[in-house]
Amino acid sequence: MVITLIFILLAVGILAFAIITQPFYEVSLPETNSNNPVQDELPATIYTQHLNWLYDLDIELAAGKISAQDYQAQKKLLDIEIEKFKEQVSRQEKIVESSNELEIEGLISDRKLERVERSVGFCTQCGMPLQRSDLFCPACGLKLK
Ligand SMILES: [Zn+2]
Repeated sequence: MVITLIFILLAVGILAFAIITQPFYEVSLPETNSNNPVQDELPATIYTQHLNWLYDLDIELAAGKISAQDYQAQKKLLDIEIEKFKEQVSRQEKIVESSNELEIEGLISDRKLERVERSVGFCTQCGMPLQRSDLFCPACGLKLK
């Protein structure tokens, strides 16, 4: 009888534990997938915040609330943070730029490939693939017909 009671209590305890901890499992799952939106927004927010702090610092100095020494120390820290932010942004811009360049190069090579696939012959002067409608070679300008 006592053993049965212990078993029931144990079962209820395990069930309660599972129910209580369940939200933690659910919360920890989608975190691996959520990447961009928040991260894209965050640096700009931090940057604005730093600029605001810098502005406040100027006001406090002007009002005599902080010493020039404190002002310099805090300003230096903020400047470092702002520089870090600018570096981060320019790095991100470079990544976007280079990926755009790759995309354009991809389009160009696709276009060239398309021309080769549809070509009906090659220019006798430069070897450029020619299309049926070409009157002149698109590369060297040789008259074809
Ligand atoms: Zn040609």
